Amino acid sequence: MNTTAPNPSPAFDPPPTIRTAVTVAHGDGIGPEIMAATLRILQAAEARLDLETIEIGEKVYARGHSAGIEASAWESLRRTGVFLKAPITTPQGGGVKSLNVTVRKALGLYANVRPSVAYAPYVQTKHPGMNLVIVRENEEDLYAGIEHRQSADVYQCLKIITRPGCERIMRYAFDYTRAQGRKRVTCFTKDNIMKLTDGLFHQVFDEIGAEYPELEKEHWIVDIGAAKLADTPGIFDVIVMPNLYGDILSDVAAQIAGSVGLAGSANIGERCAMFEAIHGSAPRRAGQDLANPSGLLRGAIMMLDHLGQGGVAARVHNAWLRTLEDGIHTYDLFHAGTSQQKVGTRAFADAVIDRLGLEPLHLSPIKPAKAAVIPVRSAARIRPPVKKVLVGIDVFVDEAGAQPADLAQRLKGLRSGQLDLEMISNRGMRVWPGGLPETTCVDVFRCRFRIPDGTVGGASHDEVTRLLHSISAGGLEWVKTELLYTFDGEPGFTRSQGG
Ligand code: NAD
Repeated sequence: MNTTAPNPSPAFDPPPTIRTAVTVAHGDGIGPEIMAATLRILQAAEARLDLETIEIGEKVYARGHSAGIEASAWESLRRTGVFLKAPITTPQGGGVKSLNVTVRKALGLYANVRPSVAYAPYVQTKHPGMNLVIVRENEEDLYAGIEHRQSADVYQCLKIITRPGCERIMRYAFDYTRAQGRKRVTCFTKDNIMKLTDGLFHQVFDEIGAEYPELEKEHWIVDIGAAKLADTPGIFDVIVMPNLYGDILSDVAAQIAGSVGLAGSANIGERCAMFEAIHGSAPRRAGQDLANPSGLLRGAIMMLDHLGQGGVAARVHNAWLRTLEDGIHTYDLFHAGTSQQKVGTRAFADAVIDRLGLEPLHLSPIKPAKAAVIPVRSAARIRPPVKKVLVGIDVFVDEAGAQPADLAQRLKGLRSGQLDLEMISNRGMRVWPGGLPETTCVDVFRCRFRIPDGTVGGASHDEVTRLLHSISAGGLEWVKTELLYTFDGEPGFTRSQGG
């Protein structure tokens, strides 16, 4: 009799009688076809899985669930803790949330692992030596989804980067690199511009990296890093990035390795994990038996490794490599000359199944993973308490057409206690004091009130409240505020450009 293991077993290839419960969603567009192909291959390879199917995506959105998922599906996901997910179509338009972002955040899947490997000469690529992994932070950054419209002119999206979030992703990236026997971790940020948010990501990379002396570490500004990635990807090994850069650049990496249709991804959390293809539901290709199932199959192989079924994972992986090597290619990989046979989704799966038990003849065969699960360590680090002092406030005022000097004169008369107007900026550029007439202004002005440097004890919330009250009473509309603090004497805010 078979038994079902409720959670991934960390053991290396558990006894064949132990099966693991996995939640499966067939998705939209090409999703059902590539999932059927993937599951057939897993079954033929005797993966020890008990599948529970849930419905997500288009049909669920159409039933009025704005997140594209229902309560019963959450129940299955939380119980099994393992999700094999086909791509879904996200309806366009307001009110609808991205299911992918919701699932990653709700289940705490903080690390997105996306390998990109070239299979030259069997799959055409300009970068034959490419073999890299992007580890993308998966919960924070602009994907926190906190957006507001402040005025007729101004829309804003908040970029949230937290210390615990950075510590978790860095710990994971370095542990992953070590466990995979890889040698170098590169960090991409834009900390020359975003000194606090990307600056923290870079700083934590340096702090945690110091605990891995055997690994090489380097940091690149994301623009030149992206250019290098597109031009000479062979110089990279593991790259760790904040959410947005990682989302964009992992698609670039997959495409230049051969095709977005080749890449799979793992989304890892402390209690749950989700495995998928990196591409979307490709609606134009749906229902035609055309799509390449390789991305989802690669996701499933990562899942088998994660579940401790490294032997099955290697068997499937080697059969898949042999299929590519034999030139049996779906349309996205097919090139006359290198390919032997153009096949559809089903025939590609048949070809992989026929090769189970074989290894590639020229590409490097895969050895069963030694570590079943990359250790996921809680990163709560004990830090000494920090001294936080309120030293001012940025008040964002909606005043279309205002002249900065006139606005400053009105605000100077509204000071509260020790809080006095220090500067005004527009879209981050200082326009008072000083400023150039050439600077284009929109309707929202950021007005910074500070207490004098060296004031003992800082400002009070009462002073802040009185200031806001007098600004309103003075006929000006404030649409947003940000309090200014120092932390152990270091400002927790940036200066404006030009000031
Ligand atoms: P897409 O990745 O679905 O497709 C872009 C193009 O890539 C396709 O037209 C096709 O030419 C090619 N392609 C993608 N997968 C392929 C495969 N397996 N085999 C062969 N060719 C393949 O991107 P899109 O068209 O921008 O998005 C379509 C939908 O997918 C949107 O609704 C989007 O929101 C959604 N999406 C879902 C996910 C997910 O569920 N994880 C990820 C990205 C996009």
